[in-house]
Amino acid sequence: MNHWKTIVEPFRIHSVEPVRMTTVDERDAALRTAGNNLFNLHAADVLIDLLTDSGTGAMSRDQWAALQHGDESYAGSPSWFVFLQAVQELFPFRHVIPTHQGRAAEKILFSVIGGPGKVIPNNTHFDTTRANVEATGAQAVDLVIPEGRDPSALHPFKGNMDIGALDAFLAAHAGSVPVVFVTITNNSGGGQPVSLANLHEVRAVCDRHGVPLFLDGCRFAENAWFIKLREPGQADRSIPDIVREIASLADGMTMSAKKDGLANIGGWLAMNDDGLAEACRNLLILTEGFPTYGGLAGRDLEAIAQGLREVVAEDYLRYRIRSTAYLGEALHAAGVPLVRPFGGHAVYLDARALLPHIPPLQYPGQALAVALYREGGIRGCEIGTVMFGLRPDGTETPGPMDLVRLAIPRRTYTQSHMDYVIEVVTYVAARAADLRGYRISQAPPALRHFTARFESL
Ligand SMILES: *Cc1c(COP(=O)(O)O)cnc(C)c1O
Repeated sequence: MNHWKTIVEPFRIHSVEPVRMTTVDERDAALRTAGNNLFNLHAADVLIDLLTDSGTGAMSRDQWAALQHGDESYAGSPSWFVFLQAVQELFPFRHVIPTHQGRAAEKILFSVIGGPGKVIPNNTHFDTTRANVEATGAQAVDLVIPEGRDPSALHPFKGNMDIGALDAFLAAHAGSVPVVFVTITNNSGGGQPVSLANLHEVRAVCDRHGVPLFLDGCRFAENAWFIKLREPGQADRSIPDIVREIASLADGMTMSAKKDGLANIGGWLAMNDDGLAEACRNLLILTEGFPTYGGLAGRDLEAIAQGLREVVAEDYLRYRIRSTAYLGEALHAAGVPLVRPFGGHAVYLDARALLPHIPPLQYPGQALAVALYREGGIRGCEIGTVMFGLRPDGTETPGPMDLVRLAIPRRTYTQSHMDYVIEVVTYVAARAADLRGYRISQAPPALRHFTARFESL
């Protein structure tokens, strides 16, 4: 490492994709058509799209070249073996089952091990994970450390599992817990990492209770980078070495290659247990495809294999984590309330703190997200009362927090794009008192954040 502070993107641009500039009037019209729901916008009307980091990253030259090696044989394609080797290089599980994305791996796994009466602990379930657990009649329980629930608590590993709570939970539910999950990084908790020490402790508790441990590994490389940076004794290790130690503590994993696979689609399910693998493969054939392609084209398998080699490169990870922190640090310095420390893949604005005059049931996160789009063409995602405030009986309650997530697609935007985001967010924050809340004029009975329509109050 040298002493320069400027973040140098560890790539130069080889092929460009235009983004379209729009005026405030055009964006007002787009918002009217969309019912003030940013999910309803045409993406072509968005200048900087920070809705999600899932499948939205840029592939490298070598990934595009790898697509040309794609072999579309139905069974036993060479591309399958390239994929298998790349996965097992980092995660040496005996069985690897390719799926079209992460939730397909979850659906298959929980269909086999879930069911009524079962309970599954996790540091924090991602929403599709929770939904797939609950769809089988099982219960999903989040046991992250208390700091992980406090937006302003500073802790280097806010994604850690609460070991005491896990131990007590496994004792209280003996016989009903088919698996313990740990999500790295903890996406729903703000992209916060889990330490190696915590993973060792989780493993020890699982061993004591005879329960297997699985990883939700979507952001494994970002998590490994945080371990290298922040955990005592880890600074001199290579990222693949840290990843292999993480894998060695688990009995299996689910994965979305749309995150740290650096691909636009794909995922996998992996495990050591032969019987479980057989049951999962049988379901795979029913819903995804033959076990050597699992719902993916041969070319996708090649792109993921190459992505896995690139995502553990230190120049990439240094740039990735520094550029997320760059956005967060600048907004923090400007006095914008945020979740801290900054996670790996996103910065979360605390809309409830910024807009105290808008009560949670008038959706401060929605108000802020709409304002960022209206003023600057930036699309973030409300993670608050719109997303979590609707109870199954149809009544409403404030969500745990009212946040706006600015998720950063991998290798997609430059530092000047981020400087623009900083300028727009700071501008909107300075005029926060002028923002008004919203009411929902039309909503479906569940998952309303995707399709609800909003009216300004
Ligand atoms: C994205 C994600 C998933 C689901 O993966 P998809 O590819 O979107 O189906 C599961 N867990 C975590 C932590 C995720 O971030």
